[in-house]
Amino acid sequence: MPKIPDTFCPAKWDELNVSFDTHYSYSCCKSTPTVFKENVLEFVSKERMNLLNGIQDASCSYCWAVEQKGGESLRHRHLKKFNPDDFELYQNNPAPKQIQVTVGNECNFQCTYCNPKFSSKWEQDVRNKEYKIFSDRYFWGIADKQQDVMGKNIEFLKSFDHIENLSIIGGEPLFNKKTFELMNSVQADSLQMVTNLSCKKSVLDNFFKQCERYKNVVLVVSIDATGDIAEFIRYGLNFNEFDSNFRYLLNYKPENVKIIVTSLMTSITVRDFANFSQYMREFLNTPKLEWRVEYCKQPLTQSMASLPDRYKEQIQVAIDAMVSYNIWGLATLKTVVATTPFNKSIHQQMIHFMDEFASRRKISIPLCLN
Ligand code: SF4
Repeated sequence: MPKIPDTFCPAKWDELNVSFDTHYSYSCCKSTPTVFKENVLEFVSKERMNLLNGIQDASCSYCWAVEQKGGESLRHRHLKKFNPDDFELYQNNPAPKQIQVTVGNECNFQCTYCNPKFSSKWEQDVRNKEYKIFSDRYFWGIADKQQDVMGKNIEFLKSFDHIENLSIIGGEPLFNKKTFELMNSVQADSLQMVTNLSCKKSVLDNFFKQCERYKNVVLVVSIDATGDIAEFIRYGLNFNEFDSNFRYLLNYKPENVKIIVTSLMTSITVRDFANFSQYMREFLNTPKLEWRVEYCKQPLTQSMASLPDRYKEQIQVAIDAMVSYNIWGLATLKTVVATTPFNKSIHQQMIHFMDEFASRRKISIPLCLN
């Protein structure tokens, strides 16, 4: 059996994330994105060659840094699950097992913590007039965009006979008219898709039919708060419509569909945590449903640094009330809320941003920001 080089990592072969929108691509989620020209797999082949030749490819600096300090890297964890008998297959540049594509930035929402790379509404807004927020001055920048992203995705996926997992992100996949065509362009065992779930029920019915093609489907649903706060933060959302779609989804989804609700806790959404967790409580015993909470790091102005101290105790109480449920990220959220020092300058920039956002959208801010 050939010796496996010390720098080998199966994720460099197994995983591929590609955006025909920004022309960035990378292998696993931790490897550095590279701009590609025509051939997506060309740069990956070079990175793979380095790993086969004992060279620590720069795209994997995330893992090398951990390993240099003697820690267990993500690469080590991948290797633990790797069957050495398969190594020869990897030397022949096999097709990736998991491919993630983006439908581009077409989206029906303009969430306050999102940006032009992921939302066409944000793109229109920033093209019209920039937001002058010093601490996040690059966050709302506009990247070069490519034409016919979906056509390129479809052509690319058609070049594979079969993959194990297809992952679709956006923008908003269920808002894009070509998403189902994209799903049909490659045979995959499983599907993962991220959605804001603000579509017509007929689109959900169509999606349910598409799910029959897969062994497993994971639908990742984004929602962070309730009522007016949710509608302000996720501008474009009608909370009642979301609620109705969510219940419809849970009632009529096919057996093979798992739902992961992901909620981004910003210094604004976290103030509604008591109400929102009450809302979620009703669904937490549903089979094949998981709730994950994440906390905002960027834009910095919506991170916990702009959460005034006087809100923290009440938020901790609301978090503590949910510890008996199995909620991914809850303990981390509690720590972040408790330990992030309040920063007056970031807070002032957040207020300035929210005022500007609300005046451009001609809406009112549904809570006191001070
Ligand atoms: S070495 Fe690390 S960064 Fe590189 S592909 Fe493997 S897991 Fe990803």
